[in-house]
Amino acid sequence: MQHNDVLEGCAGGEAVESCDVLIVGAGFAGMYMLHLARRLGLSAVVVETASGVGGTWFWNRYPGARCDVESMQYSYSFSEELQQEWHWSERYASQPEILAYANYVAMKFDLLRDVKFNTRVMRAAFQEEESRWLVSTDQGTQYRAKWCVMATGCLSAAQTPNILGLETFKGGIYHTGNWPHEGVALSGQNVGVIGTGSSGIQVIPELAKQANHLYVFQRTPNFSIPARNRPMDADYENSWKKNYAERRALARSMPAGILSQFGDKSALAVSAEERRQEYERRWAAGGTSFMAAYPDLLRNAEANDTAAEFVREKIRQAVQDPMVAEPLVPVDHPIGAKRICADTNYFETFNRENVTLVDIRANPIRDISPGGVTAGSDFYELDSLVLATGFDAITGALNKIEIVGRQGLALTEKWRDGPKTFLGLMSTGFPNLFIVTGPGSPSVLTNVIVAIEDNVKWIAECIAYLIDVDAEYIEATASAEETWMEQVRKTAEGTLYIQAKSWYLGVNVPGKPAVFMPYVGGLPTYQKICDDVANEGYRGFSIGKRPN
Ligand code: NAP
Repeated sequence: MQHNDVLEGCAGGEAVESCDVLIVGAGFAGMYMLHLARRLGLSAVVVETASGVGGTWFWNRYPGARCDVESMQYSYSFSEELQQEWHWSERYASQPEILAYANYVAMKFDLLRDVKFNTRVMRAAFQEEESRWLVSTDQGTQYRAKWCVMATGCLSAAQTPNILGLETFKGGIYHTGNWPHEGVALSGQNVGVIGTGSSGIQVIPELAKQANHLYVFQRTPNFSIPARNRPMDADYENSWKKNYAERRALARSMPAGILSQFGDKSALAVSAEERRQEYERRWAAGGTSFMAAYPDLLRNAEANDTAAEFVREKIRQAVQDPMVAEPLVPVDHPIGAKRICADTNYFETFNRENVTLVDIRANPIRDISPGGVTAGSDFYELDSLVLATGFDAITGALNKIEIVGRQGLALTEKWRDGPKTFLGLMSTGFPNLFIVTGPGSPSVLTNVIVAIEDNVKWIAECIAYLIDVDAEYIEATASAEETWMEQVRKTAEGTLYIQAKSWYLGVNVPGKPAVFMPYVGGLPTYQKICDDVANEGYRGFSIGKRPN
């Protein structure tokens, strides 16, 4: 094992720091990877663009930002001490609390000393002759590492829409995915919001409370379930803390890695009245486990429509003016085929006198000028504009880095027609480069902290194995990758997911190939495959002394 965490000279004159593992990103994936790398006795460095840990929770500081997985579950499970001592104050944690948790973890496990903040990785190139990754940053620093782990996150590359004249707008422009850390004073202003996905649905009710007038520019209405957030109940917290190990294990046996009550009958096998009662019960309980009512909701269009219709009715009931309610009712995709949202008073917000819904599907935005937005024939005078327009998801952050594998192969070139990986963990042609929750893994369809922990643990165990067998490199074989991508594609085709124009498919980014990226077979199935692959001596990977 090497521990050569020293500065070396290099031909170009710049210092190159050598380490065993170079980790890109200090979100939940990067932090845990660093912790496990150290446990293996390896030297590891994390390079992070931000000035602090937390990844997506560092950047997404917009008012109302909150997780839609319950806080007792949206947390690391690897340390019993950590999960016992941390106290979550609400059923669903707010962004500041999650960020405080990330910082607490960083302190508790003494992670900060190996994180290079305010540093963006620009390039990572595989040096075939020495089987090392040479990683360069925008600060001029370079790292030579045997293993490179991309912990860059699935929802970390904010997507700014290409709208004519956007750059001419003279007021403030704020993207939810990159919200100013000092906060934004919007009170008394006329504010426009573009986008009504999860971020828009969370920020809109909060902005409505501050703004003089809020204009919501909606292209596609979304399904949303009330979150029913509330202060943490002490008994509930205690019951989790007493049974954490058991509940975490149970959660890992569920498709999304979230402990939920799953219905076991088809939605069509019960009477309309029984179904209605079940939907009412879940609506009252709140949260995204609404979709767990029946196992065929994302497989059978008729079953799906029973749930969709129930939510459509709820929207019509919540919004007083039918002329406003109707454009808020989603009709163009099955419920859950786009990521279902969880809200606090979202639809009710449209009953406020200072909120106007602008249906830009019916009246598209023509342009943005210094004073506001023109949609259809109407001009909306604005002081500030909020872009809740989402992310170049799953591959965006990776593609921002110039990643060069064997024989000069660029990852962006290899993925020109869509990402290709084996298990989302590695891509052929890029030896010793691991991806946490990469395309082809269930990641974004799960409690992502569970997916992260499982992937990171797998990577750490793989590295330990490679050290044991004295291997120089590991690389996914082309045939394993091809077979896996086919399995990812076929699994998605059996579902209704592919019927929505979602970021899962990449169609929210102009020019991005329309390929369904996540593996929809569920976390337990995926994890079993990953474990089997490892137990069979890393079947589907070639392991060797030196690359050819
Ligand atoms: P999103 O779901 O991709 O929504 C983006 C919104 O912007 C959509 O309404 C989209 O309309 C609109 N939009 C994009 N480009 C536009 C354009 N050029 N003109 C007009 N409208 C445009 O992004 P998001 O809301 O940031 O959420 C992304 C994901 O992050 C979520 O699905 C979720 O996984 C995660 N997230 C989670 C939470 C949570 O835990 N509660 C909160 C926020 C985000 P179209 O639909 O018509 O494209």
